Amino acid sequence: MSRPFRVDERIIVVDSKGRQYLIKLAADGEFHTHTGFVPHADLLGQEEGVTVRSTTGARYTAMRPSLSDFVMRMPRGAQVIYPKDLGPILMLADIAPGVRVLEAGVGSGALSMTLVRAGANVVGYEIREDFARRAIANVEDFLGSASLGRYRVEVRDVYEGIDEDGLDVVVLDLAEPWRVVKHAEQALRAGGTLVAYTPSITQAVQLREALEASDFELAQTIEVLNRSWHIEGLSVRPDHRMVAHTAFLTSARLLGPVPGGLKSPGAPR
Ligand code: SAH
Repeated sequence: MSRPFRVDERIIVVDSKGRQYLIKLAADGEFHTHTGFVPHADLLGQEEGVTVRSTTGARYTAMRPSLSDFVMRMPRGAQVIYPKDLGPILMLADIAPGVRVLEAGVGSGALSMTLVRAGANVVGYEIREDFARRAIANVEDFLGSASLGRYRVEVRDVYEGIDEDGLDVVVLDLAEPWRVVKHAEQALRAGGTLVAYTPSITQAVQLREALEASDFELAQTIEVLNRSWHIEGLSVRPDHRMVAHTAFLTSARLLGPVPGGLKSPGAPR
């Protein structure tokens, strides 16, 4: 099916070295680089995969951004969760269409758009109004205004409580997730899941202690390592550089109190 580029769409243009640029198409827009510029008019009405030339003859190939492309290049207020952790969070939290999620804090909305695109109904709590606005704008920008029917952000402090109840999932990306454990116990349905993203292991440990003293069971903490490979002719090896650390992911299910407790399940497969 033909779906040409339209005004106001965000697209990715890739140069011959593989460098990617996120641009928003405008009728009279121009995409400027060190090789001159490309008028947006050359891209409007074209299909994904089109290659155009800048005023000095450099080549640029255009396509729509994947969620991962968009997250890495969208406007940010707070630090975002990277794709390598966003995917696993969907699994740990068992996100599917219709799943009801409370997310705090919302930051730039990278996790929000991942949850909403997977079909979840998301309520976000965010203490900073500017971040709340930025997150909503980013979700709308990538997923369209219809997605806002499943996404709402309240400017409030999650440490003070959660008004929602019967939730399926609580996802946390903030400094002291252990302060949300009691509130999550009230807000989740039986069998619901808590997932927390914490850069520091001491945060994960403090969260695990709070979970231990709660009705959450089957707690586990993982980290996700993503090592890319260089594959070119006879040179086939891991890339020299990698992002060695982002954060720990801790998850648990609201199942208790279980007499005698449950053994920790170890790593998910
Ligand atoms: N996961 C987000 C980034 C979150 S950054 C993303 O992928 O884009 C952490 C956010 O938590 C910040 O925006 C901060 O303002 C917010 N925050 C910190 N403490 C909070 C609290 N007690 N209640 C609600 N939001 C909080």
